[in-house]
Formats: sequence, structure tokens, C-alpha cells
Amino acid sequence: MLNSEYFINLENQYGAHNYHPLDVVLVKGEGVWVYDVEGNKYLDCLSAYSAVSQGHNHPKIKQAMIDQLDRLTLTSRAFYNDKLGLFYKKLSEMTGYEMSLPMNSGAEAVETAIKVARKWGYHIKGVPRHQAEIIVADGNFHGRTITIISFTSTHQYKHDFGPFTPGFPMVKYGDIKAIEDAINDNTVAIMLEPLQGENGILIPPEGYFKAVENLCRENNILLIADEIQTGLGRTGAFFASDHENVRPDIMVIGKALSGGFYPVSAVLADEPILGLIVPGDHGSTFGGNPLGAAVAIAALEVIEEEKLVENSRDLGQYMMDYLEEVPKKNIHDLRGKGLFIGIELKHELGGARRYAEVLKQKGILAKETHTHTIRLAPPLVLDKDTADWMLPIIRDTLLMD
Ligand SMILES: *Cc1c(COP(=O)(O)O)cnc(C)c1O
Repeated sequence: MLNSEYFINLENQYGAHNYHPLDVVLVKGEGVWVYDVEGNKYLDCLSAYSAVSQGHNHPKIKQAMIDQLDRLTLTSRAFYNDKLGLFYKKLSEMTGYEMSLPMNSGAEAVETAIKVARKWGYHIKGVPRHQAEIIVADGNFHGRTITIISFTSTHQYKHDFGPFTPGFPMVKYGDIKAIEDAINDNTVAIMLEPLQGENGILIPPEGYFKAVENLCRENNILLIADEIQTGLGRTGAFFASDHENVRPDIMVIGKALSGGFYPVSAVLADEPILGLIVPGDHGSTFGGNPLGAAVAIAALEVIEEEKLVENSRDLGQYMMDYLEEVPKKNIHDLRGKGLFIGIELKHELGGARRYAEVLKQKGILAKETHTHTIRLAPPLVLDKDTADWMLPIIRDTLLMD
């Protein structure tokens, strides 16, 4: 019988070691639950970094994928297909943006948003060619391509990988004055996560995002929101931007857009911005393929039909109320919005990894983020009974010596 150790060794021997996984080998998933090679069952509190918000192997999305697999998977954008237009329409109806541009990974969509904003800067704002600046924040996470790591503040993400792409002044996250100071005539956009997921579920001061939007309006600058992780219900609103009634000019989504079945990402904007992209400007062999489009339509329908945004809001609040009562013995800070909760442990404990290992032993898969923070981001199909099972276990683990 092939056990976990066998598969772990295989990965370690033949694969690049660009991750440090928990020692669990998963073979099956259903809803909020995943199962390992030995048949152990776990509650998935990571949800593939929020990509499986709809729960593992959601039957409706699976059926949409199977139906499409029986017909057509890839045409390239050299031809039209009968799914992409429907996907665009669904996205527009659900988000209020007039147009979208489909890609595959989140990083590709971020790159696309950068290109769109720069083109807007040269054609509409009149910035001198190749001088465009896009203001970003420290602690950001926007992906792993060379351009994107050019503006990370995480040392390891970039220090061996230069030379880098210029044009991204960085400011302190949450500090509106810092943005004001960084704006100049060449600023075409400000790109932010409304709250920083990978940086430990970091929530900026209330009113920050709205103030950024106002600055953008006053200075003829585009606001780009990277909602790849926070979007589509994760934080208890459809977009995290909605919490402050902000409407970014360019919205970047991915992850849960396909419910974990297939990489689908998209850039959303209105026609005056996305309409600037003309044939030949940008492309992707797989972007907008009928299989991905069919999957994404179903994944969006599930968010609507199962009221996942509302469930995220209500159960997230329920969990926060419970966790706030846990004695602060080991807890440095507790933050959350919807089912997106970060428990930052006291730094002298030496990191959250040990706690993630113990939670695993007890049937909960959570991953430390940013060394000291336990991230709780279960699928949004979580129900109250399961939350009631999980919360005392988390409490006990947080009180561990
Ligand atoms: C995950 C993530 C990305 C990158 O998405 P990939 O699909 O891994 O390329 C970008 N931005 C944010 C906020 C993310 O959470």
C-alpha cells in the first residue's frame, strides 16, 4: 500500500522545492472536507488560498465541466466560441463592469491590468511614453512574475531574480499621506489589495481605501484593485472594495472564479479603459477558452445561488465573536472580515507552523502565513455545525503551552 511518505518522497526527489507543504497527502475532496492517503478526514481551512470558495468538487461546477469536456475545450481566440460571450455577460451582470479580459493565472491578470493602465496613461492621460508610474504598497502580494516581484517588499521573493521592471514606486500600506506624496504627473494608477491576504490578513485603517479612491479621482489616476483573493465573497462582501463603497476603475479577479476546477482569471473595467485594448495588444492561448468559461459561469452561479457572500459575512462574524473570547495567552492580534480570519500569534512563540501541525493532528488544515499568523479561510459553503465543531479545537490549540 502506497502511503503518504511514498508520495512526499516522490515530490521531494523529482520536484523543485518551491513550497514547504504540511506533511499530508490529499487524494479526495468534497465540500469543506479533504481526505488523505491513509483515509484521514480534514476540514480545509485554506481552500487553496481561497480558490475553492465553492467547496471541493462542487457538483454543479463539476457537471458544467463534464458537459463542456464532451463538446469542446480549446479553440484559441483566433475563433469565437459559444461560451466566452456568455461568461463576459455573466461577469458584467454580476460585477457591474462593462467589459472583461480573460486570462488564466492571477499573476497574468495582474500583468494585464498593468498593461491596460499604462496604455490608458499614454493614450488618455498623456503621460510621456515609457514614463508611467503605478504606485503600490509594501507588504503586497500580486504574484510571482518578474514584473510583479519587481515591486514586492518581501526580500526572498526578489533578491535572486533581478534585473527588475521599473515604474512602481512603493508606499507604506494603510498610509494615505504616503500615497499623496508619491503622486506625480506620471502616476497612471494606484494598485492595492483592499486587505492584504498573503501579508497575514492585514486590514488597513477604516476609510483608507475610500480615501485612496478619492485621491485617484482628484488626480486623474486609475484605481486598480487586486481582489484575486479577497473577491467573490471571501470577506463577506462580493468585493472587499464594497465594504467602503469603493468602485475601482480596474478590478482583478481569479482564484474562486473557477471554484478550483481550472485556472481562470480576469481583468474587469468599463469600456473607456478596457476598450483601449485592440487586436494584437495582448493575448493568451488558453485565456477565454470554452472549458474555462463554462466552469467560471457555473462557479459564479454557485456563489449567487448558495448565497455564499451572505454566509461568509454571517459565519465569519460568528467565528470572530467566538475567537475574540479566547484568552489572549498566545494571541498577539486577531483580525478578520467574513471567512477570512488571521490569528497572529505572539512572536516569541517562534512562528505559527507548530500550531498548524497540531491543528492538522486534530483534523483541521490551516497554513501559517507570514510566519506568525494562522489563516482561517475555509470554503464559503461552511455550515454552522461544522464551525461549532472546529472552533473549540482552534481554541484549545491556541491555549497550548
Ligand atoms: C494568489 C494571488 C495572486 C496570484 O495568483 P496566481 O494565480 O497564483 O498567479 C495575485 N494577487 C493576490 C492578491 C493573490 O492572492
